[in-house]
Amino acid sequence: MSAPQPRRPRPALEIAPPLPPPAAERSAPYLLDFLPRETDADTRLARFFARLREGRLSTTRCLRDGQISWPPRTVCPRCHTGELEWVDLPERGRLYAFSAVLAGAPLGMEQEVPFAVGLVDLEGAPLRLFGRIVGKGWSELAIGEAVAVEPYLSADGRAFYRFRAGGP
Ligand SMILES: [Zn+2]
Repeated sequence: MSAPQPRRPRPALEIAPPLPPPAAERSAPYLLDFLPRETDADTRLARFFARLREGRLSTTRCLRDGQISWPPRTVCPRCHTGELEWVDLPERGRLYAFSAVLAGAPLGMEQEVPFAVGLVDLEGAPLRLFGRIVGKGWSELAIGEAVAVEPYLSADGRAFYRFRAGGP
């Protein structure tokens, strides 16, 4: 029987540095929050929300292989590079499917029930996005209906996007 071999030292793991603690002014139970936190202190994708404030829905595209991802990424899921660029997405799309929230609304949205949510195929982009549908009641919507991307600000000042039906 051979003597046990000395353990080789393990290579140091490369771990991304942790994000700083969340902004002190936010004490809401954010795991139940429908809208994401969006500052540089909360996410590495703060640019997405900054662009929404400019009225632009955007995502990331890989500079190496051209892969467009949704939601936006910090690393390309195909080739794993971090070399990504921001690209604007189309402002119109068509309703692929929809449903209504009649109960169990996310935190802060209890007063807005019933409301519609749906999947939208963006015009000219290979992406199907989930989001809230406004402009029409859920019982008036139709599959294939044209909708417009609508960036907006929430009551507490965060930027997000939704889709508006019934436009021109
Ligand atoms: Zn890539």
